Amino acid sequence: MTKIISNMEKSTVGSLTVITGCMFAGKTTELINRYHQVKEDVIAFKPVIDNRYSQSEIVSYKGKKIMATRIKNFTEINNYSQSNIFIDEVHFFQEDIVFYLNQLAKVGKKITVAGLSWDNFQEKPFSVMVNLLATADFIIKLVAKCVVCRKRTALYQQWKLDWLPQQAEDYVGGAEKYGSYCRLCYVPLNSSKKLFMR
Ligand SMILES: [Zn+2]
Repeated sequence: MTKIISNMEKSTVGSLTVITGCMFAGKTTELINRYHQVKEDVIAFKPVIDNRYSQSEIVSYKGKKIMATRIKNFTEINNYSQSNIFIDEVHFFQEDIVFYLNQLAKVGKKITVAGLSWDNFQEKPFSVMVNLLATADFIIKLVAKCVVCRKRTALYQQWKLDWLPQQAEDYVGGAEKYGSYCRLCYVPLNSSKKLFMR
């Protein structure tokens, strides 16, 4: 299932590769596999908010991991000289990161990011992802298995608990909080349900 880095991607000077999809689609696994293919002059980052499993590593749902530097603001990347930059959970950053990463690609950096496409609480795509996808050189769109019909066509994840997140940390979680759903099986978290839950 893992896609290898194509010769076209390898031959570019600076580039932006975006891996996206819903939760449980294998985005972090894809990022980790690509990180291992680069081998040298490489660094990985993740936002401070993501503290599940590990403080200093990027860990996939299936337990694969790489060392990562935790950053609060994306401009902290300026402090590192590596040419190959990997960022997980990129949808947690401010939208300005889109311009910033495109500037880095312009000066020759090879950037690979992974981020969630769909914000199930806002019921729309993350705008940072929309803009990253629009400016990407290469896009890898992954799908998950739907928890209802079991088809591997899930595009969305949905919160499945009877309480709603109250603070930023509450949103971070895995299968204990979220399920993945296909287009047909996905049910929006509508406003009446949100009110009822609160
Ligand atoms: Zn389904």
